[in-house]
Amino acid sequence: MRVLVVGAGPAGSLTAMLLAKSGHEVTLVDRSSFPRDKACGDVIGPLALAMLDRLGVELSGDRHRIGSMWLGFEGREMLMPARAGLNHGGYGLTIRRKEFDDLLYRQAITAGAESRVGVVGDVQRSGPHLRVLLDGRQEEFDIVVGADGANSGVARSMGMVEPERILLGFALRRHLSGSVRADRVDLLLGGRGPITPGYGWVFDQGGGQLNLGVGVGVGGERTRARGVRELLDQYQQDLLDRKIITTAGAHQEMGGWLKMGLVGTRVASDGVYLVGDAAGLVNPLQGEGIAAALMSASLCASVIDRWGVDGDAAYRSAIDQHFRKFLATGYTIQRLALAHPKATRLAMQSLVRVGRRSERIASGWGIFWNDLTEHSGPQPGAFVAWSALTLGQSVTTFTKARPSWPD
Ligand SMILES: Cc1cc2nc3c(=O)[nH]c(=O)nc-3n(C[C@H](O)[C@H](O)[C@H](O)COP(=O)(O)OP(=O)(O)OC[C@H]3O[C@@H](n4cnc5c(N)ncnc54)[C@H](O)[C@@H]3O)c2cc1C
Repeated sequence: MRVLVVGAGPAGSLTAMLLAKSGHEVTLVDRSSFPRDKACGDVIGPLALAMLDRLGVELSGDRHRIGSMWLGFEGREMLMPARAGLNHGGYGLTIRRKEFDDLLYRQAITAGAESRVGVVGDVQRSGPHLRVLLDGRQEEFDIVVGADGANSGVARSMGMVEPERILLGFALRRHLSGSVRADRVDLLLGGRGPITPGYGWVFDQGGGQLNLGVGVGVGGERTRARGVRELLDQYQQDLLDRKIITTAGAHQEMGGWLKMGLVGTRVASDGVYLVGDAAGLVNPLQGEGIAAALMSASLCASVIDRWGVDGDAAYRSAIDQHFRKFLATGYTIQRLALAHPKATRLAMQSLVRVGRRSERIASGWGIFWNDLTEHSGPQPGAFVAWSALTLGQSVTTFTKARPSWPD
C-alpha cells in the first residue's frame, strides 16, 4: 500500500511513523525543510503528553511545566488549579514547535518513512489510484493522508470542506525575552475592533523566554482577524502596566489559522483521510490542537492498517466517537459567544467572580475548557466540569447555533 502523507506537523509525522512501523510504504512530504517553525503557544498539553508517553516518544531536557494557571478578565483573576487525572499527569510542558515537530519528524524517518520536501497541489481519484500533483509532477498513490493544516489543500481539492460552514480562529504569538509572575490566560473581549471573543496567554518557556499571544474566534469571516496585532499590542502593554510581565529586547512574531469544531469538514472520502488541523479538530474554546492531532493520527493509522482504502466509514465513526461530544458543545458556545458579546461579558465576569471564591468552580472550568472532563476522575471540580458539559450538550441540542451533524 503506497501512502502519501501531506504535511509533517505532529499529525502527519505521527501518522507516517505509525504506518511505517506497520510495514506500509510511506512518503512524508512537507513544503518546508525541517526543522521549521510553526505559530503556537508551544504548550504540549496533558493529553498530548500522555499519548507521547504511551507511544514511547521521549521529550528530553529540562522543560517548564504548565500546571495551575491564572485566568483573568477585566482586572479580576482566579487561579485554575491543575491536578492529575485518570490518564494524564495534570500538567503540560512548554517546548518550541521548531524542536517538537522536528523530533516527531525524525522519528517518522527513523521508523522508515521516506521524507521529501515539496509542495502538494491537486489530489484526484484516477481509477484505483489517487493522482497527486507534487512539485508540478503527477504521481500516483493508493492512499493520501491530508495532514496539511487548517487551510488544507488536500481537503479543498477533494471537495471535503465547505468553506462557508467552517469555524475559524486566528492566533498570533510572540517569542520574547522576559519574565512572568505566573503562567496565565486572560479572556478578552476585543480592543477597538469587533474581534470577540478571544483570549490572551503568556507562558514561561524557561531560560528567560516567554511565549505571549492572543487568539480570536472569527466564525467563517477571515477579515475579522485584521485587528489581532493591535489586540496583542494592547494585551502586552496591559500586562507590562500591571507589572505581570517584564520584557527585554525585540520579539519574533508568527500567526496562524485554527480550524475548530470539526464542522464543514468530511474527514474521510474515497481513500483520502484528514488528520489534525486539516480535519478541524482544534478545541473551539481555547485553541489547543496538538493532542487532537496526535489522537487523530493514531486513529487514522489504525484504520488504514486494518481497512486500507475502504476505511472511510470506520475513520469517520472513530473521529465522531472521540471528538464529537466536546467539539459540538465547544462549537455552540463559540457561536453563541460571537453572536452575543454582552451576554458573554456577563458570563465571563460571573465565572471569574465566583471562581475566585470557589476552587471547585475554578477547577471545574479548567477541566471543562481544556476538554479533560472525561479524563479527570473524581476530584474537586470534576462534577462541575461534567455538569458544564451536560448543560452544553443540552444547549447544543436546542439552539440553532449548533453544528449540523453528520458531515
Ligand atoms: C498561534 C497559535 C497558538 C497555538 N497554541 C497551541 C498550543 O499551545 N498548544 C496546542 O496544543 N495547540 C496550539 N495551537 C494549535 C496547533 O498549533 C495545531 O493544532 C497543530 O499544529 C496541528 O498540527 P497539524 O500537524 O495538524 O498541522 P500543522 O502543524 O499546521 O502542520 C501542517 C504542515 O503541513 C505543511 N503543508 C501545508 N500545505 C502543504 C502543501 N500544499 N504541501 C506540502 N506541505 C504542506 C506545512 O508546511 C506544515 O508543516 C496553536 C495554533 C496557533 C496558530
